[in-house]
Amino acid sequence: MHTDQSTIVIIGAGQAGAWAARTLREEGFAGRVLLIGDEIHPPYERPPLSKAVLSGEAAPESLHILDAAALTALSIEWLAKAPVARIERADRRVILADGRAIRYDKLILCTGGRARELDVPGNTLPGVHTLRTIADAQRLGPLLRTGARIVVVGGGWIGLEVAATASKRGAAVTVIETMGRLCERSVPEALSAHLHGMHVAQGVDVLLGAAVAGFARAAQGPLEVMLGDGRTIDCDTAVVGIGLVPNDELARAAGLDCEGGVLVDAQCRTSDPDIFAAGDVAVARNSWAGRRLRLESWQNAQDQGIAAARSALGRDVDYDPLPWFWSDQHGTNLQIYGVPSPRHQVVVRGDPAAGSFVFFYLEGERVMAALGGNAARELRFARRLIERRTPVSAQDLADPAVSLAKL
Ligand code: ADP
Repeated sequence: MHTDQSTIVIIGAGQAGAWAARTLREEGFAGRVLLIGDEIHPPYERPPLSKAVLSGEAAPESLHILDAAALTALSIEWLAKAPVARIERADRRVILADGRAIRYDKLILCTGGRARELDVPGNTLPGVHTLRTIADAQRLGPLLRTGARIVVVGGGWIGLEVAATASKRGAAVTVIETMGRLCERSVPEALSAHLHGMHVAQGVDVLLGAAVAGFARAAQGPLEVMLGDGRTIDCDTAVVGIGLVPNDELARAAGLDCEGGVLVDAQCRTSDPDIFAAGDVAVARNSWAGRRLRLESWQNAQDQGIAAARSALGRDVDYDPLPWFWSDQHGTNLQIYGVPSPRHQVVVRGDPAAGSFVFFYLEGERVMAALGGNAARELRFARRLIERRTPVSAQDLADPAVSLAKL
């Protein structure tokens, strides 16, 4: 079906795009592969941006998935700093912002997302940052030094990782979260309390139920963060980590079905059979969650990128992954398998206060999700219990004397 004359274009040179491009070659596709990105860097992984790269322990180059030499070796034409202006589906062309037109036979959208901005006065003042790219981390990292006063807006994953990194570097950190607890979207109350305690123990100030009303800055003075209740906090740098906005504008403008991201099926196919999507921008039904969702994770960027490439080549693909997510904060490695929901029964194994623990989320006798802290080994077994749909009892799960391997 595909000839050496076929062209597959990938928009978005991040993790999903890189894995899609590499997979096309690994699957033996001999036609033209174009990987179009708007950043100057070759494709890279983002998780270390809020951790080792931000703290200066890892060089940005260590994040590269495919460097320029590897791209050349794979005959992948990589266009850097080449934003796409539109997709012309009728002519199967992609038009770049500089006017160039590129014809495709199949198109894969891996456009990811961007940091959601805080819509308040002063949000573009110097000193107000978001963190999504290598360039962001390079700007922000040097500001997180000893004695610096840092305000983090958003007590979700990015915010807490930045808070942990900044406090480790000796900065004085305040986290401002609108909800009543940390990471409310993704973890149960007991874990929010544990995260809260962990950050406070490291000297981080956590303000819950607090809204930022705006930012102001005197000429050379500190940045002033104004809260909804009239309080103000002076700081040197503010970091806004309030979630991701999917970059689905190109798809929407081209008339593809979108729903908070580009809608795809288990074959990673959009509403146009020649266009596929993968990674942070893609919305798909996930049977483990029992609903449609966008998976903002390292695992999904890679695996869905691979799946989309195979699907574009006409291979048999049925992509429905058990979601997996991790975070590192103050020396604690947190991992989540599956999608915890308030309707699940929560069973705790181990003691969050003692450092190692797993929360199991049950529906009847089935484990639907698991969330652990410093418990990588146990989580591997938990994952099998979820995937194999093994019936278990809550008592056994809660009892550290009962080996998970035996269950
Ligand atoms: P991310 O991956 O960017 O960390 P999350 O959804 O995990 O995204 O976390 C974002 C956090 O920001 C949530 O806890 C949410 O309640 C919080 N948040 C959203 N809007 C605001 C706001 N205006 N001020 C403070 N916190 C906010």
